[in-house]
Amino acid sequence: MSETTPRHGYDAIVIGAGVMGASITLVLSRSGRRVVCVDAGPAVGAGSTSSSSAIIRFNYSTFDSVLTAWEAAHRWKDFARHLGMTDPDGMANLITTGCLALDTPGDNRPQVSAIFRDIGIPFEDLTGGQIQARMPALAKGDFWPPRPVDDPQFADEPTKDIAGYYTTEGGFIDDPMRAAQNFMFAARSHGAEVRLHSAVVEIPQSDGKVDGVVLASGEHISAPVVINVGGPAASALNRLAGVADEMNISSRPMRQEVHVVPAPDSFTTETGSLVSDPGVGVYFRPGPGGTVLIGSSEPACDELQWIDDHTNFVNTPTPELFEAQVLRAARRLPDMRIPLAPVGLADLYDASDDWAPLYDKSSLSGFFMACGTSGNQFKNAPMVGYFLRALVDAHDVGQDHDQNPVRVTGELTGREINLAAFSRLREMTNTSNSVLG
Ligand SMILES: Cc1cc2nc3c(=O)[nH]c(=O)nc-3n(C[C@H](O)[C@H](O)[C@H](O)COP(=O)(O)OP(=O)(O)OC[C@H]3O[C@@H](n4cnc5c(N)ncnc54)[C@H](O)[C@@H]3O)c2cc1C
Repeated sequence: MSETTPRHGYDAIVIGAGVMGASITLVLSRSGRRVVCVDAGPAVGAGSTSSSSAIIRFNYSTFDSVLTAWEAAHRWKDFARHLGMTDPDGMANLITTGCLALDTPGDNRPQVSAIFRDIGIPFEDLTGGQIQARMPALAKGDFWPPRPVDDPQFADEPTKDIAGYYTTEGGFIDDPMRAAQNFMFAARSHGAEVRLHSAVVEIPQSDGKVDGVVLASGEHISAPVVINVGGPAASALNRLAGVADEMNISSRPMRQEVHVVPAPDSFTTETGSLVSDPGVGVYFRPGPGGTVLIGSSEPACDELQWIDDHTNFVNTPTPELFEAQVLRAARRLPDMRIPLAPVGLADLYDASDDWAPLYDKSSLSGFFMACGTSGNQFKNAPMVGYFLRALVDAHDVGQDHDQNPVRVTGELTGREINLAAFSRLREMTNTSNSVLG
């Protein structure tokens, strides 16, 4: 296939037009590079991005992850300023609800609190009574540990109150696919090209360097830089490029369901909050139109659904998981109304071994990756554009990121994010071992 005439003229090829690929395409094209973003799908943002709960929060386990989320939120708050323009087709919006993180025994709250204080992220510690006074829709019991719904103890009364911490900042992006399209609108205005229905089937190399991509049509697009932003297809693309074996941390597709149910009247985007409740095994947030969106926090009593082939999985919600997630959320939100049939979606995370992302170079010169987003990186998309630009800039001047890690300074805090935290060669990061990161 690579015998077809190469088409020259690009500085970089971005594989994948999800929210990450679109953000990277914007920042690279804004740096004066000629960029083409190729995607197998029919529309920008139509991959796993379109299924995202799009939650913005800051409670991660490590300094670099917290700082990244805090800096990215600052950019979502004034998204038009970040883009440098307004998309005439409509802008994605940040809906601020606040974020309540509830405790479980031995969790990372002490570390997270210390990082929040260090960075200057305002938060309050709350008792169960204070939580209920602020959000009367929420029950104040401690339901830990999470249980299968057919466990005889599932509905046991709690013996003590829950506690947690609350940040007034945080919320969600009202339309994640639109956010990807907003990034791409801005990228196009800087000259980026987007080619949809264009699946990459080969990643050619010569002299130990990447040489663009070959599409299913047989066309070879040549460029010295190729960035794998394939979402749940990223590990397959890393294998195609021959870079998977040297990675200490890798990623794999994992199936997830998110359900949407009618909200109690007193739990709206104004009066409710994003709630992270690993003690019952879910996260949930109010949504537009009087709904609650419910996702899993990977409780130990549930089996993880690893998927071998990202193109082949059950992409509709199942009655079993619907029942489990909704009944778990109903412990915390007792007045929630429960539909009889499953309502929601099923899609894939690109889950890494330690639930932290991979923003990195690779063993193949010129081949980069932004993957392993583990169900928790949508919020960081505005920063990930800068991360990949910094990695490509370093490559261009011969800086070996593996030996001399690239750092990116946050505009809001002036603090440095060390991209070694997201290296494929790192040791396992000590995280929550769940979507909470
Ligand atoms: C159900 C769910 C809920 C989530 N909730 C949250 C949340 O609340 N907060 C948060 O921060 N994050 C969340 N995430 C994570 C976040 O949404 C993802 O990390 C992010 O959207 C991934 O974007 P992406 O651009 O990397 O991938 P995608 O959007 O999947 O884009 C990858 C693109 O690559 C293309 N592609 C794949 N293979 C090829 C190929 N061979 N050739 C060409 N193109 C190819 C695909 O067509 C696709 O368009 C959630 C994810 C899911 C699935």
